[in-house]
This record gives sequence, structure tokens and C-alpha cells, in this order.
Amino acid sequence: MKNLRDFTYEDLQREVAEYGEKPYRATQLFSWIYQKRAADIDSMTDISKVFREMLKENCYVGADTVLDVKEASDGTKKFLSELSDGSRIESVLIPESDRLTLCVSSQAGCALGCKFCMTGMTGFTRNLNLSELTNQVFSAFTLLQEGEHITNIVLMGMGEPLNNFDNVVRFAKILTDGKGFGFSHNKVTLSTAGLVPGIRRLGAESNINLAVSLNATTDEVRDRLMPINKKYPLEELMEALRDYPLQGKKHITIEYVVIKNVNDTIEDARRLLYLLRGLPCKVNLIPFNPFPGARFQAPDAHKVMVMSKILKDGGYTVMVRSSKGSEIQAACGQLRGWHEGA
Ligand code: SF4
Repeated sequence: MKNLRDFTYEDLQREVAEYGEKPYRATQLFSWIYQKRAADIDSMTDISKVFREMLKENCYVGADTVLDVKEASDGTKKFLSELSDGSRIESVLIPESDRLTLCVSSQAGCALGCKFCMTGMTGFTRNLNLSELTNQVFSAFTLLQEGEHITNIVLMGMGEPLNNFDNVVRFAKILTDGKGFGFSHNKVTLSTAGLVPGIRRLGAESNINLAVSLNATTDEVRDRLMPINKKYPLEELMEALRDYPLQGKKHITIEYVVIKNVNDTIEDARRLLYLLRGLPCKVNLIPFNPFPGARFQAPDAHKVMVMSKILKDGGYTVMVRSSKGSEIQAACGQLRGWHEGA
């Protein structure tokens, strides 16, 4: 049986053609799945009963089970979903003054093993398929209060999205398709640890926003924090970012997790300025969020402020990202795919 949430619009066009149905059936189905959020084929009432019965022989609309939801005092909600094979993933809804962002996982676990990241410490299970990506959006819809709308989607949860390239690009298509979830390209951001071939391919195949988790200004420190740097060192990564087609967008987002006594000095800020020269970007400084078993510590607030000032004086837009949801382990780098008691 095929889950209709595993279908892009183009897939549906092919599927309805196989049934000998007219192409407009694909538009109807796509709209039922993503806009009207139909929970089953029977509720697609403007589709003939005969075609619905045929569809039901091979297809269904399948959700993933939300096992647990934790809410922090700042309103951040983290939810744990169980997939069909028993794998578990987490997603996070993050409210801010003018936006509500859904942080989506792209893999169950992660193979990249970044040393400051709880997901990286728990190992890799598998890539998520398309329905497991879209189901995180559907599940998030069920957690919204009246009047709330998701404004932004970020692929920054568990996993390296560029290691699940095809499904992630198909997901981005559904997110940004006016007949699908209907988000603007500018409201969807993919964050990578720096897979250079994937960055180049993404630039050619999609026009969603790009964020890069940089976190160090020398190969020596980045090798230690992010083993992927040994494969794609800073110079190669920065070259790929400089080549990245912005397609009308203003900038790439540079994420920099600030870790006490590791990458938090004035020299780091100056080296970062040098690395970023000529690159249209904004910088998010993210004070490290310690988690149980973490080998690093949160930075001193004033050191983060000094780094921020140096970067701002250098002409960059800098945001110091507050640790939203850290008390429920929902902040950056704290997702692990299990909740106590769930
Ligand atoms: S930071 Fe991202 S890429 Fe690195 S281990 Fe964690 S989930 Fe994987």
C-alpha cells in the first residue's frame, strides 16, 4: 500500500494517469492531501466514489503517531513521533514575537557526529521518507492554538538534510507549492553542517534559504567539533558558499554555536569576519546549550556580546539566538529522539 503523503504533485499526475483518470484528478488529490488535510480517501468528497474505491485498493493517507508533547515555559513545544518501523524523531514548534517556526527532522539520528550535538551522539538510524517529513507538518498543525499559524519551516532538527537530499528537495517542493502547503520560498530554510557537493546541488535544484552551521574559524577547531570538516574543510566550504546562487535572496545564514573556551574569543570573531568577507550573510550566534553528558559548557554572556559587537562593527547583521526550549531539551543540538517516560 502507498501512503498518499509520499507523493509530490508530479507523482500524483503519474499515479492518476495509471488509473486512466484525467490530469485534474491529481490537482484535486493534492489539494485534499495538503490544503484540506484529508485524513482518509473517503473524505475526498468531490472525487467520484468509483475512483476513490479504486484508489483505496492501493493507497491510503497515513499519519505518524505523536507519542509525547513537551511544552516549555517560553511556549516552545517539542513533540516526539513514532514512525512505522518504531524509529522515533523529534520536531519543535518555536514561537517568537512575529513568527511561529516549525523545526523539522530530516533523519532518525545523524551520522555526522558533531561533538556539541546530542543527536550526533546518539548515532544514525535512517533517512526519513517524504511522508515522514510532511507528517511532522501535519502533526504540528494539530498542536496549534486557535489563531496560530506556522510562518516558517526550518530543516534544523535531527539529521543532516543534505544526506537525505532527494526526499528533502521533494519536501521543499510540497512546502512551497501554492497547491501544497503554500509557504513562500523565503520562509523555508535548510541548515547543513557543510556538505559541499550537497550545497552545490541544492543551489541548482531548489531556491529555499540556506543556513550553514559553521561553529569554528580554523580547521583545527572545526575538525574537532565537526568531523565532516576533515572531508570538506573551511576553504572548500567557504568557496561553495560564495558560489551559491542566492536567486533574489539577500543572504545565507551562518550559524555559530558559541562554546566556552573553544571558539569564543575576540580572535575567533576577527577570523570569522575574515572568513565571511564578501559573502552576503547574516550571523546567528547560538550560545551552547549543555545537555546531560555534554563535554562542553555554555559561554559567558559577555563574550558572546563582544563577538556580536565585532561582527556588527564589521557590517554584518548578527542575532544572538536565545536558547528557546532548553529546559525541555528542545534547543539547538538537544534533540535525541526519546522523551523520559514515553
Ligand atoms: S549538528 Fe546537525 S549534522 Fe551535526 S550531528 Fe547534530 S544533527 Fe547531525
